[in-house]
Amino acid sequence: MAKELEHISEGESRKVAEASRETEWKQPSFLREMFLGNFRLDLIHPYPQPVEERAEFSAFYNAIKEFLRDEVDSVEIDVTGEYPEHVLDGFRKLGAFGMKIPKKYGGLGFSNIEYQKVMQLLGSLDGNLSALLSAHQSIGVPQPLKLFGSETLKKKYLPRCAAGEISAFALTEPQVGSDPARLQTSAEKTPEGDYILNGEKLWCTNGTLAKLLVVMARDPESKKISAFVVETAWPGVKIEHRCHFMGLRALANAVISFKNVRVPAENLIGDEGKGLKIALTTLNDGRLSIPNGSVGTCKLCLEICRKWSSERVQWGKPVGKHEAIAHKIADMAATTFAMESIVRLATEMSDHGGYDIRLEAAACKEWSTDRTWEIVDDTMQIRGGRGYETETSLAARGEEPIGVERMMRDYRINKIFEGSSEIMHLFMAREAVDKHLQVAGAMIDPEKSVAEKLSELPKMAAFYGTWYPTRWLGWGQWPRYQEFGALATHLRFCERNTRRLSRQIFHGMLVHQGKLQHKQAFLFRVVDIANELFAMAASVARAHGMEEAGHAEAANAAELADLFCRNARRKVVRLFHDLWANDDVRKYKVALRVLDGKHAWLEEGILGLEARATNLKPETVAGGKIEPLPMPKVRPVGTH
Ligand SMILES: Cc1cc2nc3c(=O)[nH]c(=O)nc-3n(C[C@H](O)[C@H](O)[C@H](O)COP(=O)(O)OP(=O)(O)OC[C@H]3O[C@@H](n4cnc5c(N)ncnc54)[C@H](O)[C@@H]3O)c2cc1C
Repeated sequence: MAKELEHISEGESRKVAEASRETEWKQPSFLREMFLGNFRLDLIHPYPQPVEERAEFSAFYNAIKEFLRDEVDSVEIDVTGEYPEHVLDGFRKLGAFGMKIPKKYGGLGFSNIEYQKVMQLLGSLDGNLSALLSAHQSIGVPQPLKLFGSETLKKKYLPRCAAGEISAFALTEPQVGSDPARLQTSAEKTPEGDYILNGEKLWCTNGTLAKLLVVMARDPESKKISAFVVETAWPGVKIEHRCHFMGLRALANAVISFKNVRVPAENLIGDEGKGLKIALTTLNDGRLSIPNGSVGTCKLCLEICRKWSSERVQWGKPVGKHEAIAHKIADMAATTFAMESIVRLATEMSDHGGYDIRLEAAACKEWSTDRTWEIVDDTMQIRGGRGYETETSLAARGEEPIGVERMMRDYRINKIFEGSSEIMHLFMAREAVDKHLQVAGAMIDPEKSVAEKLSELPKMAAFYGTWYPTRWLGWGQWPRYQEFGALATHLRFCERNTRRLSRQIFHGMLVHQGKLQHKQAFLFRVVDIANELFAMAASVARAHGMEEAGHAEAANAAELADLFCRNARRKVVRLFHDLWANDDVRKYKVALRVLDGKHAWLEEGILGLEARATNLKPETVAGGKIEPLPMPKVRPVGTH
């Protein structure tokens, strides 16, 4: 099969992705409406107010917080590159591997909001632990089984997962990163109805610890992809290699091979041929863990910067009072408020039902990881040299072990896995143009004949005849939204610019026609505008909700919402401008020339990649492991 897959074209990859897209929108989505030019404030306002925590959850939350504070040494986990047994056992005893698993299958039966509160807590302390728990239950066996598994599969495996048998999600392969069309692992059906699995999976998080895997594999005949629960103890399953990374050093990440592994028929998840859809839906649903963790990371950054910038005096005053640093701190607070506003909103919506949050979850993932990376970078800058120094080194010379360098190493991967930033943009962009493709797709399809195009005209006239003029005619001026007080102006901006955004998407289609799908710079700006408007609206709705509820911090929230919106408005204006005034074509041409080696001359004067490959000593490669550093006992700064 490898040979057949070598020449998969962009069009074929697109077809596979398109076939696994969830095309129906049974429930409303704030962002989908926005792409159509409808600013549906009613979908996010009133902003959901926190309800009193259930006693059962509070007891768990306090217990895990105490456990993390008293029993977990995140520096040790980072330096040794291993999860200590007592931490894994502690999680098992607490029931942390079954937070999202319904009680009837032995789990704790938490809501998404409850589960994500724990993810936020972990995001402020330890990326390795976040990844362990999240890979197990946000995307590992429990999640697809909950969504698509038969009762037999649920009964068989969910209690084991809840009890702490660690699971993992295995989609990626050496040739399959963002492009599942190239998937090569095969699942051949036997006459008895079982499946024989052959192939290799790459970068499977939890893989070296896992007892259970969700594996996506392809029928060699029909080429259709299915999803299976596979037990790692079965004959033919082998951990080939443990992967090591820049951060998340304890990640139990593996290359796993499958050689004639017999998978019983009942271990098929959902229907045959629906594996990719199951994988992508699992990711859609599990996608809120990273943003919730990111909120935790940003809150810790804020605490670090607030304290350090007040204490550290240079040039006659605390560094936080020099304007350059002060501005970073203000932006950090405002962005953290906005991030929490969208992430909490999407998480509440996912629990509440009645909403389709595919786009909101993707927006949270993309926007939060990009913003958090900037915030972590600013935190390192504000901590200066100490930001770059390891916790062990800081502790050894008597300073507070604040691990910004660990945070930076651990955080970076969030922009890559569970749907990279680029793939999140593409996913959202596809939905942004969806309605237009439904109505006018034939007109821009080069494969359609003139007659076919003409036959579509009445449908187009009926839709655009009313849709387009009304995208100009809404009212986004005073006194609309005046119940929001000083923040109303930002909602009016959102309303006007939502309609403007939808017009620009339509104009983009008219100008670029069939080529629009390749105009990533245009489409990504469209998505960036939508994300900023979403974050603005959610921030205002939340601040207003706090005021209505008589929250003690309502005025402070309004201050942060206002600053965030002011920043976002400038960004939106710039992005709209750049839609039509840019160097996109020129840049693409230059990139092609760079790829073609025309600018290889610029790489002169370095010891390049070739030198590195020949320098690497075989014993270093064989070890493949980062040696632990000598380590004084330190307690990392985190949630305590
Ligand atoms: C630490 C770690 C843990 C992981 N855990 C798991 C796991 O548990 N299970 C699992 O199945 N996988 C896992 N992965 C794999 C991860 O999901 C992939 O790395 C990710 O999907 C990206 O694939 P890739 O690295 O092959 O990049 P590629 O797909 O090769 O992409 C390279 C770059 O090109 C961009 N790109 C790709 N296609 C397009 C396009 N059409 N348009 C624009 N840009 C594009 C990408 O965004 C990226 O920037 C893990 C990876 C790492 C590093």
